[in-house]
Amino acid sequence: MSFKTVESVCTYCGVGCEISAQIENGKIKKILPNKNGKAGGGNICIKGKYGWEFLNSAKRLGEVKIKKDFFIKNFHLFPKEIKQEIGVPEFVDGYYYPQLELSYKIAAWKFSQIKDDFTGFAHASIGGARTSCESGFIFQKFTREVLGSPNIDNCARVCHAPSLKGMRLTIGEGAATNPYDDIKEAGFLLVVGSNTTEAHPMIATRILEAKKRGAKIAVIDVRKIKLCDFADLNAIIPFETNLLVLNMISYVIITEELYDKNFIKNRTEWFEEYKNEILNDPFANPDFFLGVKGYEELPKIISQIARAYASNKSMIVWGLGVTEHIDGSYAVCAICNLALLSGNIGKMGAGLMPLRGQNNVQGACDMGCLPYYLPDYDHPQVEGLKTPDVIKKIQSQEIKSLYVMGEDIAHIHANQNKIHSALENLEFLVVNELFDNEITKFADIVFGVKSGYEKTGVYVNAERRLHLSSPLQESSLPDDWEVISKIAKYMGANFEYQTSENIWNEVMASAKKRFAGASYERLIQSGTQGLQWPVSLEGMQTPVLHAKTFRTKDGFGQFRYKKWQKRGMIIELINNIKNKSSFYLTTGRALHHYNNGAQTKECSKLIDKIDEDILLVNQEDFENFKEERIGLISAAGESGKLKFKVHSGIKKGTMFATFHFASSKINFLFGDEADELTKTAAFKSVKVEIK
Ligand code: SF4
Repeated sequence: MSFKTVESVCTYCGVGCEISAQIENGKIKKILPNKNGKAGGGNICIKGKYGWEFLNSAKRLGEVKIKKDFFIKNFHLFPKEIKQEIGVPEFVDGYYYPQLELSYKIAAWKFSQIKDDFTGFAHASIGGARTSCESGFIFQKFTREVLGSPNIDNCARVCHAPSLKGMRLTIGEGAATNPYDDIKEAGFLLVVGSNTTEAHPMIATRILEAKKRGAKIAVIDVRKIKLCDFADLNAIIPFETNLLVLNMISYVIITEELYDKNFIKNRTEWFEEYKNEILNDPFANPDFFLGVKGYEELPKIISQIARAYASNKSMIVWGLGVTEHIDGSYAVCAICNLALLSGNIGKMGAGLMPLRGQNNVQGACDMGCLPYYLPDYDHPQVEGLKTPDVIKKIQSQEIKSLYVMGEDIAHIHANQNKIHSALENLEFLVVNELFDNEITKFADIVFGVKSGYEKTGVYVNAERRLHLSSPLQESSLPDDWEVISKIAKYMGANFEYQTSENIWNEVMASAKKRFAGASYERLIQSGTQGLQWPVSLEGMQTPVLHAKTFRTKDGFGQFRYKKWQKRGMIIELINNIKNKSSFYLTTGRALHHYNNGAQTKECSKLIDKIDEDILLVNQEDFENFKEERIGLISAAGESGKLKFKVHSGIKKGTMFATFHFASSKINFLFGDEADELTKTAAFKSVKVEIK
C-alpha cells in the first residue's frame, strides 16, 4: 500500500508532540509519533494517536450559517447592495446559508454599525489558543485596529494567566525556563497541582525516566494521583493551601539556611525583606499542620521536600492545580521564590515548568491576545477587559458585540448561569468553530474553519518551542485568519494577507524580541526539532532562559512574598466542623478527552473509552449511598446528574470530576471566585452539596 508521510504537530495539549501522519488518497490513515520529535521525545499519547477522526466527521460545520433571528432583526437595516445580493432569503432549520463572501460583508456591516453607534469599546474578542499564531495575531490586530477595542482575551484567562503574572513579577518572563528534556537531567522534581499522567502524558513519561535515572520525585496535590505511586514524597494537602505549603517549603529552606547565598547575592534582590516577612508569618511554619486533623504528617513531608529541593539540581512542574485558585498568581510567585532561593534556575536540569493547557496558549499570549499585552508583551496604551469583566459588561449591555474564535465560553468558563444569561443580551455574536457546541447555539454568524490538521501555521508549545505545522488533509474551509481578514477588508482595513507566511513575517517584525529570526525557512529547516524562543535575528534559539540575567527591568530576580490567608476547608478542619452533606470539589482532565471535547468526542477510539464525566468520591463518604447518579449544587448553580465512582485517592469530604461533557454542567457549580490578580476562575475548589 502506498502512502505519503507528513510531519506535523499534535493539535491537543501544550506539550506539542511532533507527529508523523500516514496519508493515503488525501486522507489520514494513521498518526504515529515522530521518532525525532523533541517535544514528544519520540512518543505521543492516545489523543495524538487516535484523535484525528473528527476531521472527517459528518458533524463538521460547513462554511457559514447565519441565524434567522439575526436576519429578521437586521434585514430592514442592511445596506441596499447586501439586500440585493441576498434576494429572497431561504432558511433551513432556523439558519440562512449564504455564500462566504456575502457573509463577510454582513459581518463587516454589523461590526461597523455597532462601532459607529457605540464606539469600539462596545466590542470584545475571546479566543486564539487552539488555532495558529498567525490567526491569533490577526485576531488581536483586527480587534484593536479595526474594531477599535482593547478587549481581547484568550483561554489563558481560565488556565495559566496566573503563571504569566507570577513569573513576570519575579523573574520577568512568563514562560517555561527550560526544555522538557531537562526534566530527565534533574536530581529532584517537585510536581505541584498537575495530574501529569492524564493532562500532559509525555511530560509524565520524562518524569518517570528521570526517576529511573535516580531522580527523586515529590508530589503536592489535594488527591492521590497516579504519579504518587512513583513519588518518593507525597504531600496530600487540604484544598486551597498551595500558597501555604509553598511558603512553608521556603520557611524550612530559610530557617535551616539551605539557601544559595551566592546566587541570592549576585542574581536577586529584596531577599532580606522576603526573609523577614516569612519569619514573621504565623502560618509559614509547617508545624501549623500539626493542628489540622487528618494532615498531621505534612510538617515532616514538607520539611523533607524543602531539603531535597534545596540540595539538588531541582525542577518544579505545575499545572492548573496551582493557578486556578483565588491566590493562583501568588502561588506562582511562591514557586519562583523557591527557584531564586536555591539557585535552581538559569541552568540545565533545573528550572520552572508551567504546563500550559491548549496547544497554542503560549503562542496566543505571545501574539498579544491578552487585554494587557500587545504582541511581544509590550503594553497597550489602553488596557482591555478580562473575560469575566467582559461578561459583566455584556450583562449591563455596554458590550454589544463579541467575536469568539475556537473557545467554547458557554461550556469551559466558570459561572455558566451568568454567562448563558449574558450571552442572550448580545446584539451580535460571531463564532469561528469546527463543530456546533454550546457557544454556537448563541451565535448570530458561525463560520466553519479549518482545524489544526488542515492548515499551515506556527504553534508555540509549553517549552517555548515553535513548530511550523503542515496540513495533513485538504479542506475547502477558510482558516481563521482568512475569515477575519475578509471581514476586516470589508470594513475598509488593509488586511491583504495571501498566506499565513505573509502574516508570520509581520509577527517577526512586531514581536522581534522573541521571534526576529524564526522565519518559515528556518522553521522548515529545523523540522521536528522546532526552535525555542527567543530566536535571534541570526537564528540562534534559547533553550534555557535566565542563564545570566533575569528578564526583569534591572535583570535581578525579585522575591515577592504573599501571606496565605486562612479560609475554607482549613477552617472547617481546625474547628472540626462536620457537615456530612457538604464536600469540596476539584476538577481536571481525563487522558482521553480535551477541554470541551469538541474534537475528541468525534473520535471513536476516544469516546468509546470515556463518554461522560464521572465523579470520583471517597469510600467512607459514600458507603451507604444507594442512588446510581447524583446531582451537585453550589452557591453558583447545579450540575447535571453524574455517575460516581469510589476512588482510593480521594480524601474524605472531597470529590473530583472532569468537565469535558456539557451535559454534566460541572462549570455551572463555579461562581465568580477567581485569582485576585488575573481573574482566572477558582476551578480547583468549590463547596458543593448533594442535591
Ligand atoms: Fe498531543 Fe499532548 Fe498527547 Fe502529546 S501529550 S500527543 S501534544 S495530547
